[in-house]
Amino acid sequence: MATTDLKQIAPGVFAWQPGHEATWGMANCGLVASGGQALVIDTPYTPALTDVFLTAVRTAAGPGVPLDRVAVTHANGDHTWGLQQLPGAEVFATHAALEHQCLEPKPQQLQTLIHDTDPGQPLGWYFREHFGKFDFAGIQVLPPTATFTGRHDLTVGDITAELHEVGPAHTVGDLIVHLPEQRVVFAGDIVFAGDHPSHWAGPLDRVAAACLRILDLDPEWVVPGHGPLMTPDDLRTYVAYLDDLSDQAYVMHGQGRTAVEAARILIKEDRYPGLGLPERLAITLSTEYRHLEQDTAAPDLLELMDHAARIAWDRSAVGPLAP
Ligand SMILES: [Zn+2]
Repeated sequence: MATTDLKQIAPGVFAWQPGHEATWGMANCGLVASGGQALVIDTPYTPALTDVFLTAVRTAAGPGVPLDRVAVTHANGDHTWGLQQLPGAEVFATHAALEHQCLEPKPQQLQTLIHDTDPGQPLGWYFREHFGKFDFAGIQVLPPTATFTGRHDLTVGDITAELHEVGPAHTVGDLIVHLPEQRVVFAGDIVFAGDHPSHWAGPLDRVAAACLRILDLDPEWVVPGHGPLMTPDDLRTYVAYLDDLSDQAYVMHGQGRTAVEAARILIKEDRYPGLGLPERLAITLSTEYRHLEQDTAAPDLLELMDHAARIAWDRSAVGPLAP
């Protein structure tokens, strides 16, 4: 699996960016290293990928620096399932992320969806396409060990790292990592670059509000949860997208269209050109509709993935709409 080395953003601040456009699961991770101390920000999706990341981290942090602290931006597996490769580390997350973790799909469930579903149906095809490259066998999901609400600050050598709770937004338990002296924010999946996001908690105005909080911190660079680094101007463009999508959801909900129909319409009119994985609109719009309908039940994640898979299937070479 192609990965990259750590990229230094500011002295002692590094990003690991393994992904490219139109991918699921290839999350960005980070490292803060100073004065013989280190803070890892998120871990990759699988132990194998995490080992690649940690090799780069050890080189950047320097010999003998203990990797004994991790900040987890949220409880999705693509940001947390590598934690077992850092046994004994203190894992910081919001209390809401800890509570939410039990609602996440398990690694064994993903293995089943990749290997035991029908590849001739949209869901089985989609999981193989996007998750088949990952080996989820033997993953033990570890909970955070140090949870907080609101804000928690850490000192890493000479660097101050502020953890700010901004959820519910992408998930119920999101946090961002702000390095004020270095003017860098690790945004987790509050921000996706290059691809449409898939927001599971919402509503979109909470995600946009979290982005505005990031802009208020006056960063020079924002590290999104997925995709290339962003400038504040890039983030403002992303906020405009979120606001427009929220407006579209409101209008089409009022017209009696389903979330999936709304997604298909926006894709057909190419409203957001240049963003990958447009089928994820079905997920984010379904989330938005739940808020519009004041439906507080937990979402059916498999149903959401099936909506996305059917749209991708119809747009692909295997689908019925193929020329
Ligand atoms: Zn993610």
